[in-house]
Amino acid sequence: MKKALFRCKTCGAEYDARKPVFRCSCGEPLDLVWDGSGIDHSQRCQAKRYSAFYPFEDEEWVPLGEGGTPLVEVKAFAAELGLADVRVKNESANPSWSFKDRGTAACVAHARALGYSRIGTVSTGNMAASVAAFGAAAGMETFILVKGDMAEEKMAPVAIYGVKLLRVQGAYDMLYSESLRLGEERGIYFMNSDVPFRAAGSRTISFEIAEDLGFSVPDWVVVPTSAGGNIRGIINGFEDLLKAGMTDRMPRFLCAQAAGCSPIATAFAAGAGKVTRFPSPHTIAHAIENPFPPSGNRTLSELRKYSSVAVSVSEEEIVKAQADMAHRGLFGQPGSCVPLACLRKAKAEGTVAEGQSAVLIMTGSGLKYTAAFAAHRLNWLDCSLEELGEKLK
Ligand SMILES: [Zn+2]
Repeated sequence: MKKALFRCKTCGAEYDARKPVFRCSCGEPLDLVWDGSGIDHSQRCQAKRYSAFYPFEDEEWVPLGEGGTPLVEVKAFAAELGLADVRVKNESANPSWSFKDRGTAACVAHARALGYSRIGTVSTGNMAASVAAFGAAAGMETFILVKGDMAEEKMAPVAIYGVKLLRVQGAYDMLYSESLRLGEERGIYFMNSDVPFRAAGSRTISFEIAEDLGFSVPDWVVVPTSAGGNIRGIINGFEDLLKAGMTDRMPRFLCAQAAGCSPIATAFAAGAGKVTRFPSPHTIAHAIENPFPPSGNRTLSELRKYSSVAVSVSEEEIVKAQADMAHRGLFGQPGSCVPLACLRKAKAEGTVAEGQSAVLIMTGSGLKYTAAFAAHRLNWLDCSLEELGEKLK
């Protein structure tokens, strides 16, 4: 690994990125500082196509084909909203069916560069499967810590990778810091939701969007937001493109949350500089249900810096968005469909103007959360072979 830094955008402190540092001593998250840029057009996988944007050596990466996901134009959404262009970045096309694979790949490269042979994460869903997949591919001992009440149907798709899966009883909130503490003591690299290289991995979402749009930048990028690591990474990605002279402006960002768990949108609406714990979170958008996001304060600052906004929507609006996206061939988990619902609300309120363009980040596959089927009125017909001719009239 080449020499690089982590910088805290809040207090300005800097750290050597070749040491295991996961957060700033001030409590806020850290961002990668690295001046490299460039695109290898012969490669599709992010680890190879955008390797110049990372301080790693080639052999430190363990690629599984992450990145290179489709940016799908949906003319029906543009027509409905009176926008020039609406596209969906379909992150379910990643190896473990969610955007998490980008950050996991970068964290695994970092862990290997630092000499770790053991990795782990704390997750309730997408990140558990992603770290399990990459840990297995890298042949590293992998520890996945999940909530004490996690259902068997969600445990099995993680356990299948052959990793050490621990269902932990007790306050789930405490697992984030407790895992980092124990990881330091036991030599396990915990790649949790907003550690520096997880956010640095999400930058490639921005690189791919810009490339697919011929290096023009959309007016809005709409990001479902939980811990805040993904939106931070996407903002950093557009900053890096601008700095490299590949684009000529920044987009505005819409931080999309479910009203049932909206600590960032609530703080944003109140004009607050810091998030507070969201009481009694409850939403069908489980993947973005984090009541006290570790990158919440940082996200608020970034939103204000780029004239951006945070919006929250109801359960009904989320379910409708999930159906409407599926009816256009895009089946995302409920959290992934919150951006469409938020874009509709922001357009109705006049935040997003007529004729603008937007990219919605569809973070993960609908098959990740089959319990959401119960929220829809799904139907099908039964018939006999003899009746088939009649039914197909
Ligand atoms: Zn700091």
